[in-house]
Amino acid sequence: MGFAMIWRATILTLFPDMFPGPLGVSLAGKALASGLWALEARDIRDSATDRHRSVDDTPAGGGPGMVLRADVLAAAIDAADAGQSRPRFLMSPRGRPLTQSRVMELAAGPGPLIVCGRFEGIDERVIAARGLEEVSIGDYVLSGGEVAAMVLVDACVRLLPGVMGRQASRTEESFSEGLLEYPQYTRPQEFEGRTIPEILVSGDHAKVAAWRQAEAEALTKARRPDLWAIKTSQKSPQKRPKSTTDG
Ligand code: SAM
Repeated sequence: MGFAMIWRATILTLFPDMFPGPLGVSLAGKALASGLWALEARDIRDSATDRHRSVDDTPAGGGPGMVLRADVLAAAIDAADAGQSRPRFLMSPRGRPLTQSRVMELAAGPGPLIVCGRFEGIDERVIAARGLEEVSIGDYVLSGGEVAAMVLVDACVRLLPGVMGRQASRTEESFSEGLLEYPQYTRPQEFEGRTIPEILVSGDHAKVAAWRQAEAEALTKARRPDLWAIKTSQKSPQKRPKSTTDG
């Protein structure tokens, strides 16, 4: 009542002290301090019920390591999210890889609840019981979900209104048009014998734009044939109507 809803990330972790960590500095940190977004790191262990405050147990069927218990995690999720409807994620190497388009969707919503796994992972039943969407930040295995959660939150926060200086910097960057970004240069004009490409200092904006487009296409083709295949399969590039959020 009277409050504008701000974008809020709730993190469920065994290591709440890891937050805000890198999210507390630079653009994201300044925006956090000025109330443009909110971060809540909750300790899963607070939802343990036995006197040892245990959160994990040995895997059913045997094998190495420990698994986070479904009952403890479900209680932690329920305590964090009572009655709210917002996206709920489990950071997981098994998940669908995070993309910029998913990040843009999330930044436009109320902000996620994110479960950070540890050990061998979490009991499968809580994933279904609490509707957790598994998200991966890449094909490698981290020791816990916290760093992955920071990646997800950082990518969203920089898109929130008022966090980044110029809107243009987010519409021209890598992935926004299905291409990697063109090369950037700044002063000095000559560095160790290498000069800034002539066109960029010509003052001809149309030529600069054409050069950048060609560079972005060449880079994408060479480095990310997977992205290039998607780009070239879209026969007529869709012109987006200018939306009110486009600045
Ligand atoms: N045994 C699991 C497997 O092989 O899929 C790996 C568990 S990993 C050691 C511990 C936790 O780190 C996971 O539960 C997950 O939360 C997080 N994690 C590891 N790699 C990740 C990735 N690529 N993306 C997102 N989260 C990851």
